[in-house]
Amino acid sequence: MPEDTLEAAAARDAAAEAIDYSPKVADEVKCTTCYMCACRCGIKVHLKDGRIRYIEGNRAHPVNRGVLCAKGSAGIMQHYSPARLSKPLLRVGERGAGEFKEIEWAEAMDLATRWLGDIRARDPKQLAFFTGRDQSQALTGWWAAQFGTPNFAAHGGFCSVNMAAAGLYTIGGSFWEFGEPDWERTKYLLLFGVAEDHDSNPIKAGLGKLKARGAKVVSVNPVRTGYSAVADEWIGIRPGTDGLLVFALIHELLHADRIDLDYLVRYTNAPWLVIRNPGGADDGLFARDGEGRPLAWDMRRKAAVDAGEAEIAPAVVGEFALPDGRAAVPVFQLMAERYMDSQYAPEAVAARCGIAAETIRRLAAELARTAFDEAITLDQPWTDWAGRRHATMVGRPVAMHAMRGISAHSNGFHTCRAIHLLQMLLGAIDTPGSFRFEAPFPKPCPPGPKPAGRDAAPLTPLGGIPLGNPTGPEDLMLAADGTPLRIDKAYSWEAPIAAHGLMHTVIRNAAAGDPYPIDTLFMYMANMAWNSSMDTGGAMRLLAEKGADGGYRIPRIIYADAFYSETVAYADLVLPDTTYLERWDCISLLDRPISSPEGPADAIRQPVLAPDRDVRPFQDVLIELGARLKLPGFVTAAGEPRYKDYADYIVNHERKPGIGPLAGWRGADGESHGTGAPNPKQLERYIANGCFWRLHLPPEQLYYKHANKDYLENARRLGFLDKAAPIVMQIYSEPLQRFRLAARGHGAVQPPEQHRRRVETYFDPLPIWYVPFEEAAVVESAYPMHAVTQRPMPMYHSWHSQNAWLRQVLSHNRLYMNRQSAAALGLAEDDWVWVVSHHGRVKGQLRLMEGVNPHTVWTWNAVGKRAGAWNLASDAPEARKGFLLNHVISDLLPPRGDGARYGNCDPVTGQAAWYDLRVRVEKAAPAEAGESLPSFAALKRAPGLAAPPRVLRYGAGGRR
Ligand code: SF4
Repeated sequence: MPEDTLEAAAARDAAAEAIDYSPKVADEVKCTTCYMCACRCGIKVHLKDGRIRYIEGNRAHPVNRGVLCAKGSAGIMQHYSPARLSKPLLRVGERGAGEFKEIEWAEAMDLATRWLGDIRARDPKQLAFFTGRDQSQALTGWWAAQFGTPNFAAHGGFCSVNMAAAGLYTIGGSFWEFGEPDWERTKYLLLFGVAEDHDSNPIKAGLGKLKARGAKVVSVNPVRTGYSAVADEWIGIRPGTDGLLVFALIHELLHADRIDLDYLVRYTNAPWLVIRNPGGADDGLFARDGEGRPLAWDMRRKAAVDAGEAEIAPAVVGEFALPDGRAAVPVFQLMAERYMDSQYAPEAVAARCGIAAETIRRLAAELARTAFDEAITLDQPWTDWAGRRHATMVGRPVAMHAMRGISAHSNGFHTCRAIHLLQMLLGAIDTPGSFRFEAPFPKPCPPGPKPAGRDAAPLTPLGGIPLGNPTGPEDLMLAADGTPLRIDKAYSWEAPIAAHGLMHTVIRNAAAGDPYPIDTLFMYMANMAWNSSMDTGGAMRLLAEKGADGGYRIPRIIYADAFYSETVAYADLVLPDTTYLERWDCISLLDRPISSPEGPADAIRQPVLAPDRDVRPFQDVLIELGARLKLPGFVTAAGEPRYKDYADYIVNHERKPGIGPLAGWRGADGESHGTGAPNPKQLERYIANGCFWRLHLPPEQLYYKHANKDYLENARRLGFLDKAAPIVMQIYSEPLQRFRLAARGHGAVQPPEQHRRRVETYFDPLPIWYVPFEEAAVVESAYPMHAVTQRPMPMYHSWHSQNAWLRQVLSHNRLYMNRQSAAALGLAEDDWVWVVSHHGRVKGQLRLMEGVNPHTVWTWNAVGKRAGAWNLASDAPEARKGFLLNHVISDLLPPRGDGARYGNCDPVTGQAAWYDLRVRVEKAAPAEAGESLPSFAALKRAPGLAAPPRVLRYGAGGRR
């Protein structure tokens, strides 16, 4: 072997160092919208040799401006997941065993058409159609209406309908994805129960801005993770007591006279007169004139006048005689009387909330100081609804945001209303520096339409969409004998304002035939046999339960999902969906758009890859089913399919003349926005623009949207509002009072005797607080702790604890407990413990921390998996060590004295109250350590799924 020369070595080193710092990594880059969570960030998918090379955030996209989170990057592993279904499946074994045979799409569609066609001809409400976290509810709800079933909902009743309904009935918009803090100007942000889920990237980016500006962030949350961990102040409140804290803040502000009275008079119903007529049918309703317009007392004219007149000087306190002699008082007085009461003083609530009275007082003072002493004035003229010109925009730079920690309690509706009341008192809604609406909101409180479905009849579409917003008992979905008309009992006396339906009651009610039997449960992307249920074991049992005749109590189950989730095993017919990178989607202003306070926006997904399996986008399947079933909206007058597929529907469907799923580039020439005729080239325009559309509002329309003449007129032109009238925020809710009056014996539609007290109590027109139902029902000493879940930043529900990259971050969950609380119980780090509720017990492993309320334990949501599901190895840590709290959450409250049981829900909206859970924690015996419980028989691997690899690699080929 010749000796190496220096020259040869140097040449070799140079070759080795010739690193290409900008290698060409892709043949092609396609824009689309991420669907690794609900945030809808813009992404660029880099493709090489027909495979995904990597995913990058789209810097031009208004939602994320290039930011991509861990989940978004790991979309590659979602797309190539070994858990993907690959062909339609027909059950051949018992339900729940996971025994299927593969069938062709033609057979699957024939079967579904026959099953559904029979129902539609016989009794369409025997179809219960429930979807999960899909982003196509404008289509699915309309499909249900065309089919003729009122039994439709998505997962909002399980998630955060309290937040949505309270907002819509109070301010005409809501937190969630329909509004956001003024990140550029807020000086003080108060978060209530916000985990790292909805609006994730925008909130993270926004918090970064606040930090850079030195704004204060206060997080009210029993658990200090995520946003709470980076907040300037963490308020480790006891779960379910946020409403009390808010009332104490309101109490302080009222007593200190630190409220924005001018804002209240101009933009809320604070001056509206409420009739005082105890026992009367009109007690508590608004005094109205002959045209039905609410009245206020004009101090100049000393008369009750139209409260909507611009130039009145309305009284906010006092009792006044109406022309007909009845007495009436302004809303403001009722509100002040209630919250100035000593029961809401900081000292009175401190112990229950677990927050020192002086801390509450300081928070109130900080809010007031920021709102009033640090007010913002923008030199931006604008015109109010009455045509009055204002030289400036005055802002109260206090913003609030709330989410599931408020919502998933049985007192969540009123707590969220309380937060909105606090915002109104500070004059901090849609002003510079405060919470801001996002189009199409604000809308009238509550917005139309009402729920449809009372007219359900064979072969007949409904007169409207099943989900809506009732304004009184006459809008309930009740049969003539008062029994619920919907299988989930939404819009019945058990849940009168169930604006998102009650997904969590469907399985129990359907299995029991209560209020009536159904034939088919049709689910899409809703893991209702696992983490999207309370009492998960019970849900699985009921899905497989048989009646005396040997048939399943729920005769047929159709399920559409992209993955082999736990629920697939319970389906009779499985329709395999694509991943989000293989289909068209529409993130629509008719549904949950991507608007910002700066202007309306919507987006699409385009297929960046063709499916390599025999799967079809569910939306295409639904459209074909609609045509096969001859649903009127889905066929032409000649009975031919109206839409070729979902892409065709997105472009050509019109909900009203000129209003379709997408608002951008409408009209024959593609130059209209908001409304306009369908544009055959619309999708091409979206793709050319990075798959999104947005409209920038002019500066004079950016704030005070609820009362801003130019904005309101623009919103009407864009199709968001029927008329450009001001939107008056509702401190006092008359729709709630109408239900309450019915409970007091007034009106044609009244609750049956067993519901009267409940309706009268919880339909208070002003926000109230009460002990969460489960806490009130159990013996405190037996279940001394609260138990809640948190959404982990790297995972979205059950989708991601099967994602190979994200599993490396988190492969099983622990039960987290306050270190001192654990010591008092004789528990130590890594102990295996039983979490025992009144309903059952679950075993997991303990981890100790400081940042959790001492009366609370918590765990990550939806990490635990059923063995065999999601095509994970049978010994996967998700199944062996992971666990769900859902197992110990009852879907029913403990029996009342008369034996009747209400659902474990908010009494106004029916929201699942899974954060009300009360438990005790017991050390497991040494022999019980090592594995979580309960465990269920491992599901057999579905046909078409390859054996899961021990090590899943992706991207090594890219290096070569
Ligand atoms: S926040 Fe959600 S939508 Fe945005 S990149 Fe992450 S997973 Fe995707």
